Amino acid sequence: MSFRIRDTDLLGRTGTLRVGSRSVETPAFLPVIHPVNQVVPGGELLSMGFGAAITNSYIAYRRYGHGISERGGIHGVTGYDGVLMTDSGGYQVLEYGDVDVDPLTIAEYQAEMGSDIAVVLDRPTGASASRERALETVEETLRAARETLRVVERTRGRMAWALPIQGGLHLDLVERSAREASALPYDVYSVGSPVELMNSYRFRELASLLLTAKRNLPPERPVHLFGAGHPLTMALAVALGADTFDSASYVLFARELRYMTRCGVRELRALSELPCSCPICSKYTLRELLELPRAQLVGLVARHNLYVLREELLEVRQAVAEGRLWEYLMHKTSCHPSLHPVRSLMVEASGDFSEFTRLYKRRAAFLFGPEDLHRPELESARARVRRVRPRGDSVLLVVAPSVRLQLPGIAGAEGDVYLVAPFLGPVPVGLVDAYPFSQSVSPDPESLDRRVLEGTADEVAAALSGWGISRVRMLVSPDRASRELSGMIASRLGGLGIAVSLEPSEHPDHV
Ligand SMILES: [Zn+2]
Repeated sequence: MSFRIRDTDLLGRTGTLRVGSRSVETPAFLPVIHPVNQVVPGGELLSMGFGAAITNSYIAYRRYGHGISERGGIHGVTGYDGVLMTDSGGYQVLEYGDVDVDPLTIAEYQAEMGSDIAVVLDRPTGASASRERALETVEETLRAARETLRVVERTRGRMAWALPIQGGLHLDLVERSAREASALPYDVYSVGSPVELMNSYRFRELASLLLTAKRNLPPERPVHLFGAGHPLTMALAVALGADTFDSASYVLFARELRYMTRCGVRELRALSELPCSCPICSKYTLRELLELPRAQLVGLVARHNLYVLREELLEVRQAVAEGRLWEYLMHKTSCHPSLHPVRSLMVEASGDFSEFTRLYKRRAAFLFGPEDLHRPELESARARVRRVRPRGDSVLLVVAPSVRLQLPGIAGAEGDVYLVAPFLGPVPVGLVDAYPFSQSVSPDPESLDRRVLEGTADEVAAALSGWGISRVRMLVSPDRASRELSGMIASRLGGLGIAVSLEPSEHPDHV
């Protein structure tokens, strides 16, 4: 298996995952294919653009046994010729308590059926497990992983192997599970049990689980997230570092006549028309759909749902490539109130994001509100500025609505000169043209949320006190936002015992 990473943004990345002669672009959504009864045939999934899918080796084992190779293996019985991942039966363990196969048997069977990415038979922790139970699942899964290594080594090059990380919401156990798993020669790591968390909108817990796993796994290896197939949360899964994820949601929702849109899931019967232009919704009116026999209707809604998931995935991939995943995720949070906590969650995870977000981007950063003060690009740029201390103990701050202004009064200034504008802390005058200081677009300062000015003033005060500055001269543009911002800075600096003098600047000229 090879995994080539192309672009990165937040913890998300785009790339190509290649197994043997098959490959798939990532992030990839893997629709669940039932090994026996398919609502949407495997061949159709591939032609719809799903280059990878997932099926269940345990169900195939029970249904086909060792006769599967005569039927063309798992690709033959599902009719799917893309990258096919096979879950091991761990999900059945979670649902029914146990399965009647051992790790080695199911591993050998996954090799026999021609799986592209096989999964170790794990003991999923689940979201509600006690610490004792969680520890058991970590140890049992690692034991199964070591036992399975025999098959992994024998099939290397021909297929890839995924090892699930356990521990659930016990983060120290997730850390241990990830660290020990990293030392084993597996190609892919998977994080399980987020279905319960996603379904009950427990995004914070999901984020802690994924971030803990990511911090302790080798960054060059792909991470699979089990059970993430909602159009609202796909961007979040990618931002938190999932390279591939799977779900049967397209068909489970279709059975309940739930119709996906990019901004949420709707009851088909409650719609007044079909708000979509996929091949299904272009061909049928809502009335025509509802008059079809049930099985046909479910099949068509499942296909529509797949088109929506595919469109969302492509939008997320494009956002990673353009370095605007932060903006896209913020935009998604306005789809549903339950997603609102994702905004503060992103602010908290900004440190994790900064490490992996590119320092320079081709496209300007769009800044809207107070959360955007914590965009990883801004955090990294500010951290770089803070590391370079001014020569003296006095500085000139030029407060203006934008750093892209030609300001009179700077020439001949004593000491170092810094520009200050909403969202941007002190920007050394020589760095004004560097990303993202002048490559950012924000609303007219007059219409800004006051918290943006407060946050900017906090940043200026923290930087200046960190440098041990004792005197500050401030040149303030005549606009209302600059006057308000300089007042906030002056009061903070005064509180720190720094001497401040304020002077109005002449009206600046836009460059
Ligand atoms: Zn449609």
